[in-house]
Amino acid sequence: MENSGTIRITVGGDTAFIASETLAPKQVATPTKAKRRVRRPNDPKPKEWLASELSKQKIADYKPFNFVDGEGVRCSLYVSGCKFACPGCYNRAAQSFNYGFEYTKELEDQIIADLSHDYVQGLTLLGGEPFLNTQVCLPLVKRIRQEYGDKKDIWSWSGYTWDELQKESADKLELLSLIDILVDGRFREDLKDLTLQFRGSSNQRIIDVKKSLQADEVIIWDKLEH
Ligand code: SF4
Repeated sequence: MENSGTIRITVGGDTAFIASETLAPKQVATPTKAKRRVRRPNDPKPKEWLASELSKQKIADYKPFNFVDGEGVRCSLYVSGCKFACPGCYNRAAQSFNYGFEYTKELEDQIIADLSHDYVQGLTLLGGEPFLNTQVCLPLVKRIRQEYGDKKDIWSWSGYTWDELQKESADKLELLSLIDILVDGRFREDLKDLTLQFRGSSNQRIIDVKKSLQADEVIIWDKLEH
């Protein structure tokens, strides 16, 4: 008689006892769905990050006459330093406030001269974080308004959202008031979409700043295609 752990098998008059577990179907471990941790950028509290404390007034790059940083032919200034630390950031080196070279009066004069060409539509500020480098960006955009009025448009990218900027320091609000188009929000790897116009993830918006300030709500750029 077999006990609970054995099974009796009789073949052609011969009897054998074998351990029951050798016949039991093997338990195959079901692979649990690999849990992918979504990495997120940093979220500052209002006025937690101040240009006056962070900016080293450095520039990662300056690219005159390009076609990719907004509408038309543009001069692009890439400032250094950003604390959002978005995973997948397109310009990681420029997250350091010490990266690159010093912003000088000569460079500012060069930008103003480059903008003078009729075929140049305007200036683009990006980085790094322009709103954490207001010591560079504010005097520059003020000078552009002084010398060119509204003939040249000013675009800026920012990791801050529109709503966050409304609760921010006076220098950031002043910069916002002087630009025409804001591409807002951090780059979100989980919302990445390379088919979008002028932005890397679908949470980002292309905002008409003047109309939005007037209406006190976000108004999207009316030339948005996708
Ligand atoms: S906000 Fe822009 S520059 Fe800053 S970490 Fe994110 S992608 Fe990079």
